[in-house]
Amino acid sequence: QPVVAVVGRPNVGKSTLVNRILGRREAVVQDTPGVTRDRISYDATWRGRRFTLVDTGGWEPGASGLQASITAQAERAMSEADVVLLVVDAVVGPTATDEAVAKVLRRSKRPVLLVANKVDSESLLPEVASLWSLGLGEPYAVSALHGRSSGDLLDAVVDALPEAPRETGLVEAGPRRVALVGKPNVGKSSLLNKLTGEQRAVVDSVAGTTVDPVDSLVELDGQLWRFIDTAGLRKRVQTASGTEYYASLRTKNAIDAAEVVIVLLDASEPLSEQDLRIVTSVADAGRALVLAFNKWDLVDEERRHQLDREIDRGLVRVPWAERVNVSALTGRAVHKLAPALRTALTSWDQRVPTGQLNSWLSDLIAATPPPVRGGKQPKVLFATQAGVRPPTLVLFTTGFLEAGYRRFLERKFREQFGFTGTPIRINVRVRE
Ligand code: GDP
Repeated sequence: QPVVAVVGRPNVGKSTLVNRILGRREAVVQDTPGVTRDRISYDATWRGRRFTLVDTGGWEPGASGLQASITAQAERAMSEADVVLLVVDAVVGPTATDEAVAKVLRRSKRPVLLVANKVDSESLLPEVASLWSLGLGEPYAVSALHGRSSGDLLDAVVDALPEAPRETGLVEAGPRRVALVGKPNVGKSSLLNKLTGEQRAVVDSVAGTTVDPVDSLVELDGQLWRFIDTAGLRKRVQTASGTEYYASLRTKNAIDAAEVVIVLLDASEPLSEQDLRIVTSVADAGRALVLAFNKWDLVDEERRHQLDREIDRGLVRVPWAERVNVSALTGRAVHKLAPALRTALTSWDQRVPTGQLNSWLSDLIAATPPPVRGGKQPKVLFATQAGVRPPTLVLFTTGFLEAGYRRFLERKFREQFGFTGTPIRINVRVRE
């Protein structure tokens, strides 16, 4: 079982972080200077990966001094652990001791993750950026106390663990969750039948598994996917008055429960308000999106040109979504759905490191600065991608950025870094 060691100065919050990772509150051990305490190891699990978490908490006070004893702790962690977490107090910033430890850890052949703890509010993100100076790469901003972003940190820890033997045929994280939505009669059940009909095994409502009985596990392109709330699609629930409301509620719930959404549209008919509402709600919910134009077998040259115009006019909110033209009837291009889902999810999960983001941004802004407002030129001080799923950028500025300029930044950001198939959130924090 791989070992993850947590090192750092006293009072940076190592024990709180360990407890956070273990998902419990008890046994918070005080980092009291002068108290010697043995290293404690715990069993931890994240995304189905098990590892041993070693809290290197205690150190020997004495002639050698604090710094020497923590560096020794780091040396020992490096020799015994597969991954080392160096915890630093973001409020205090990098101290001489942190620098000494970082220097030791930079020699490590093992992955070292820099954890900026006590980031209880976004206003501390510039302080977090100052931790780049430790030379250990991007700092992971977390608040061990409040749980902020500890999931992202754990994702990174698990990614850094040595490759584990596969235990089952299932992906450890479980199948990714897909919603298939669209207005009535666009062909949702036909498409689902086509997708499930082409494969050997459809595992539906598997007894004794954790899969919700209304979901279906579907293998597409060698990968297992969990299609959310397909019970209604399979059984063709009878429509009666009042069901419109329930249908839209069901759609909304499926979108919320999904990671990526296929919005199915009827290419043979004009795009409707209802279509656009569904598309918009996916983007607003922050889910990855694939647009599938169904009934392509009915589309002739003339209709295709019409549709292009409707897309230009109607789908302005989601120019980044991949479009796949399918026919549930003939099976045309349905094999393109799985790759499109994968692309969208990769973008949804993608993170641009802060250093890369800022060097790109400062060049862009030097060439095209934000428009002057009220006689003042707003400056963008610093940017960071604070989150994924969906990718969320935080820009720290000295003034308001107009919507047009924010759209310009998003477009350029996508040109540079990709992000096909996912909405991106941009938050602007104005510093007075
Ligand atoms: P749902 O309400 O979205 O589940 O739609 P259905 O799957 O029930 O399909 C509605 C109607 O459209 C049915 O009569 C289907 O046979 C038809 N249909 C579905 N997909 C296609 C397609 O790709 N081409 C054509 N021509 N008809 C389709």
